[in-house]
Formats: sequence, C-alpha cells, structure tokens
Amino acid sequence: MLEEMKQRVLKANLDLVKHQLVLFTWGNVSEIDRESGLVVIKPSGVEYDDMTADDMVVVDLNGNVVEGHYRPSSDTPTHIEFYKAFPNVGGVTHTHSTFATAWAQAGRDIPFYGTTHADYFYGDIPCARSLTQEEIEGEYEKNTGLAIIERFKKDGLDPLAVPGVLIKSHGVFAFGKNGDGSVYNATVIEEVAKMAFITEAVNPDVTRADQFMMDKHYNRKHGKNAYYGQSKK
Ligand code: 13P
Repeated sequence: MLEEMKQRVLKANLDLVKHQLVLFTWGNVSEIDRESGLVVIKPSGVEYDDMTADDMVVVDLNGNVVEGHYRPSSDTPTHIEFYKAFPNVGGVTHTHSTFATAWAQAGRDIPFYGTTHADYFYGDIPCARSLTQEEIEGEYEKNTGLAIIERFKKDGLDPLAVPGVLIKSHGVFAFGKNGDGSVYNATVIEEVAKMAFITEAVNPDVTRADQFMMDKHYNRKHGKNAYYGQSKK
C-alpha cells in the first residue's frame, strides 16, 4: 500500500541526516495522501541507517495504524492535527536542529533580518507558546499540534507562506506541499536561525529589515508574478 509514497517518505527522512538536521533517532517526516486520508510516517526510535521503505508506517487521521510492523513516530498525533487543520499542507517535518531549537528554547520568534529569510517565509518565524501542565500530562503530542495551530489562527498565517514554526522549549515543525518540501523548509529554518543568531551577536541593536524588502523577495519567488528561477512548462 502506498509504496511510492513510502519510498519518498524514507528518502525525506534520510535527507534530515544528509542536511545535518538530526542526530541519533531524532526528528521525523510524514506525507499525506489526501485522496485516501492516509499518512505515511517514520517509525519511532529506529536508526536512520537501518531504515527501509518497508519500515514506514501508514496511519489514518484518527491515528490508527493501517499498515506497518513498527510503532509510528511518537509525534504522529502532532502531524495529524496539522493535516486536519491545514488542507494545503501535504508534508510535515520535525527536527531538533541546533540553532532553531535554541530560538525555540528561548521562546522567541525569529525576526526577519534579511533576504534569505524572505525568500521562503512571509513574516517572522513564529514560536508557539509553552504548553500547560495539563496539556503536557494529557494528550501531549496532540496538544503540541493544537498550540501551534492556535498561533497560526491567531496571526492569520498560511502554513505554506510561513512554512514552519518553533514550539517553546522544544524544536521545529516545518510544512510543505509534500514531505520533501517540508524537509527543505526545515533546512531553511535552521540556516535562517543561525544567521539571525549571528546577526544579533554582530549587532545587538539590529532591527528588522524593511517590509518592502520582504515583499520584494517573497513575491519574486512565490507571488503571482514570480520571476525567480526557470519557468515551469
Ligand atoms: P520518533 O523517533 O518517535 O519520531 O521521535 C523523534 C523525535 O524527535 C521526538 O520528538
């Protein structure tokens, strides 16, 4: 079942290692098949070196395992909340990449300081609030997703225009049209987090770059008159 998708999801997970976003068994990537409503996700706690496409786990949007010999990622309920709340999201990545997680632990949105950021994110990269004790002791992973969704709804954010988020005291979730796209955005978040950290070290009084710079860079890549790269025929 969903064999091609399992291959894609395996590759996307292995790309986390390639892009140096994860150590050990940290992180996870999933992708949804909107037609069937089934999600393919990494198994929990399995070494990346040993993982095969066959080890990917298929779950439904209620979290039931439909196929797979392993337990799905512990973060599956978080991924599921995103797929339910954001119909335009087709892939989700979670990492504990160092610089981005440092911003998450500090509880700070990553401010827009330059064009690398604006090429991918229309606005600051938000950091969702801490979970309460009840939320952590209850359905923790589901509540992680709900806290992030709460922030997106409150700020009116589109998860494909702001394709990633930090969660306080935890790490990164990134979104994409598919699993591969979400890994790409998780990689961008780490680089942007690193640049923002160094920017503030170089100039502690730095202020956000101009909104017209954000508009120019985001739109030349993603706007309706985008002209970056080659035309897709
Ligand atoms: P899983 O191996 O269960 O996906 O956990 C990885 C992780 O990073 C937990 O936050």
